Amino acid sequence: MNILEVLALEEETKKIIQESLDALYEKKEFLPDLTNGERTQAFKSLSAIISTPNNIHKSFLRVPREDGTIERIPAYRVQHNDSLGPYKGGIRFYEGVNEEEVVNLAFLMTLKNALHQVPFGGGKGGIVINPRDYSEKELNIVSRKYVRYFADVIGPDKDIPAPDMGSGEREMDWMMAEYKKIHHGKPYLGSFTGKSVVNGGSLGRREATGKGVYFTFRYLIHDYAVAHKEHLENSGNPFANTALEHAERPLKMAVQGFGNVGSVAALEAYQCRALNNQVIAVSDRNVTLYNEDGLDIPSLIAFTSSNRGDLPKDAAELSESGIKAEIRGRDELLTLPVDVLFLAALEDQIRKDNMENIQAKIIVEGANAPTTRDADAYLSDKGVIIIPDILANAGGVIVSYLEWLQGRETQYHEESEVFRLLLEKMQETMDTILPQYFGDPYPLRENCFIHAVQRLSTVLHKQGKLY
Ligand code: NAD
Repeated sequence: MNILEVLALEEETKKIIQESLDALYEKKEFLPDLTNGERTQAFKSLSAIISTPNNIHKSFLRVPREDGTIERIPAYRVQHNDSLGPYKGGIRFYEGVNEEEVVNLAFLMTLKNALHQVPFGGGKGGIVINPRDYSEKELNIVSRKYVRYFADVIGPDKDIPAPDMGSGEREMDWMMAEYKKIHHGKPYLGSFTGKSVVNGGSLGRREATGKGVYFTFRYLIHDYAVAHKEHLENSGNPFANTALEHAERPLKMAVQGFGNVGSVAALEAYQCRALNNQVIAVSDRNVTLYNEDGLDIPSLIAFTSSNRGDLPKDAAELSESGIKAEIRGRDELLTLPVDVLFLAALEDQIRKDNMENIQAKIIVEGANAPTTRDADAYLSDKGVIIIPDILANAGGVIVSYLEWLQGRETQYHEESEVFRLLLEKMQETMDTILPQYFGDPYPLRENCFIHAVQRLSTVLHKQGKLY
C-alpha cells in the first residue's frame, strides 16, 4: 500500500499515517466483511481521505493600525475532516503560522477527537501575527475581521474554533460577539469555545489542557503501573520497565513553556504532594529558571500573571519576585538531568540535533508535535516513554465539547463536575490504549494513531465513504 496522493501534510505526518494504515491492513479482523479487492480499494480511499484536508480557507485580513498604516494579515481556517462531527480546533495567533503547519494541526485534531471519542471533526486556524506587537484595540479588530472573513464556513454545527497559542478567552468573547452580530437571531453560544464564563464559557476550560496533560503522566506512571505491576514485570516490554522504575518514587521534573498549558501542568505537579514531585525547572520564550530543590510554582504563576505572561528574565525581576532560582539559557531546560520533561511550548523542540542529550526517561507532550519523528524513534528505542500530544493534550477539546453541550442546553456544570467528566474521559482512553502499549512493540504514539485511524475508518466505512 502506498499513499499516492498526499497534499500539504508534513513528511513526518505522512510517515505516521502510512505506518498506521499498514498496521491496520495487517489486522484481518478489521473490515472483515469486505472481499480482498474491496478491502484494498477501501484502504486506498482511506489514505486519500486522511491525507488530504477537506478545505483550506485563506484570507488576508485588512487591519488599520493605530499609527495610521494598513496591514493585510494572512489568516487560515483549515477543515480536515468532519465525518465524526463538526470541525473543531483552535486559532493560533503566532508570527510563525503557515499553511502546512495549520493543515498538520487540523489533521492532528481529527485524530485526537477520534482517539478520545469526542464527536467532533478536525480543524485549525491561524493568524500570522505576534500579538505582543498589537494593541488591545488592534487585536479586537483582528479577531472580529477573522470571523467576518470566515463567517460562512464556521458555526455551532459546522466548525467551532477555540483558543490556541497566543489567543485566549478574551479573543473568543470578541469572536463570538461578532458571529452573533453577523448571524443575528441564530444560535451562537456554540460558535466558539474557550469563552469567558460570563459569556457562556465552561468552568475549568482554562485549566483543562494542563490538568489533562499531568493526569496522563500520573495515571500511566503511578495508577496504572502500580495496579498492573505484576503483569508489567512479566511483560518483557521496555516501556513497562521504564514505567515500573519510575512508579512509587519521587521524581524531578522540568516544564518547557509557562503559558496556559505549561503553568497548569507545573502547578498540578507541584500540588501532587502524594507523589513527591519536584519541579526543578521551567522555561518560557526568554529563559529557563532552575532550582535543584524545587521551584515555587504558585509564586511564579502570580508573577507571570502581572508580567504579560513572562517569567522573571533577569536578576532584577527575580529579586522583585522573591523567587529563589538560577537563570539559565532558554533551551538548557531540555537537557537537564530530570526524570520527566513536560513540553508545553512549540513544535519541533526535541529533534535530531539535541535528542542525544535528553536525559529524561518520560516525556509528556502538552504542545502539539514537539518531538520530531527521528527523535521519537531514537528515544523510544532507548525505552523512553513519550506520551504523545493526541493522548496528553486533549483536555482542552474534551472540555470544549462540554462547553458546546452546555451552551446548547444553557445548563452549566460546577467546576468539580467538569473536572470529573474530563478525567473520566481521559482515563477511558488510557484504559483502551495502555494494555496494548505494554503488550506490543509500538511506541505509544503509534498505538494512539492506529487506534484513532481505526475509529475514523470504521465510521467512514459505515457512512459508505470507502469506495
Ligand atoms: P501560551 O501562548 O499560553 O503559552 C506558550 C508558552 O510557551 C509561553 O510561556 C511562551 O513564553 C513559551 N514559549 C514560546 N516559545 C518558547 C521557546 N522557544 N522555549 C520555551 N518556551 C517558549 O500557549 P498554550 O495555550 O499554553 O499552548 C502551548 C502549546 O500547547 C501549543 O503548542 C498549543 O498548540 C498546545 N495546546 C494548547 C491547548 C490549549 O488548550 N491552550 C490545547 C492543546 C494543545
